[in-house]
Amino acid sequence: MTLSFKKISGNTRLLNPFKGNALDEIPFEIRFDPLTGATGRVFDLPFKAEKPDVADTVDRSKKIFCPFCPTALEKSTPEFPKDLIPEGRIKVGGATLIPNLAPFEKHAGVAIFSAEHFLPMENLNPETMGDAFSASLVYLKRVAQGDPLARFFSINWNYMPCAGSSIVHAHLQPNAGEAATNALREQIAGCRRYRQQNRRNFWQDFVQAEKQKDERYLKTIGSSFWTMSFVPASFLPDVQCVFPERMTLLELSKDDLEGFLEGLSRILKYFLEENIYSFNLSIFSTKEEESHRVNARICPRLLPRPIGNSDIAYPQMMHKESFTVRPPEAVREKAREAFIGA
Ligand SMILES: [Zn+2]
Repeated sequence: MTLSFKKISGNTRLLNPFKGNALDEIPFEIRFDPLTGATGRVFDLPFKAEKPDVADTVDRSKKIFCPFCPTALEKSTPEFPKDLIPEGRIKVGGATLIPNLAPFEKHAGVAIFSAEHFLPMENLNPETMGDAFSASLVYLKRVAQGDPLARFFSINWNYMPCAGSSIVHAHLQPNAGEAATNALREQIAGCRRYRQQNRRNFWQDFVQAEKQKDERYLKTIGSSFWTMSFVPASFLPDVQCVFPERMTLLELSKDDLEGFLEGLSRILKYFLEENIYSFNLSIFSTKEEESHRVNARICPRLLPRPIGNSDIAYPQMMHKESFTVRPPEAVREKAREAFIGA
């Protein structure tokens, strides 16, 4: 197996005023993603997020028109063309799925979780999340049937404004199109390269390698495998979920989804314990790329300092380089506690 968790450990030297101006060395790491080779920087700083004022955000959102609240939904949101979705909008339980007026893709949906304007993070569990995810899967399957050119799929979630959401009312964004996004394209290239070099599937080896190392591994729930990311994508360590036996979102079963939502709710519980009230989630999938597997990332989002600075700055924006202030290995045990009983 050539899968490696490569890193370069470095030190930066300085005269530290907090240590009597003595010569100090501050360690950092440059890590290489085992699939794509993309690098990220990992520090170990004594950072602890402060609890944000969620009530204030929710209050402000109630003063702005919300198209997803029941009084506005029917009149203020679009419907799908009848040839694609004959009923106009997809409804599953309490969830309603509509077209996205700001289309990121040829096929771009918005799955509104429920009539509730604000769904607190504490209440995000398999029951409250199930309908919106099920509706998103129904939509992607219908798109795949109706448009053979749609070959790349994702289900995305910006939870709360801090993660980029302009609308507090909880909603997912399932997308399908003809061209993969950068992240998915790099995954596919990595999977093909790995298979060519090793005659093996990357994801199955990845799952084995993380379990063996046991430094970041969290839990396996049904068909879903959960681990802290070796090269975190966010300011605080993020979590990866892999379905090592599922090639496409289109084949995800009810049991698969239940396992995923159970794992997700555990991760969110862990985030809450860390005072994280906002996150991004993406589930990546192709239609029929043989070496690829359905996988997801869940990234905590926050305003790190009381001034309200963004957790995305020049490294991610300009250099496409992630940086993380805590090593994933340092927080693994805490995250794993949230999985007890899962
Ligand atoms: Zn609303």
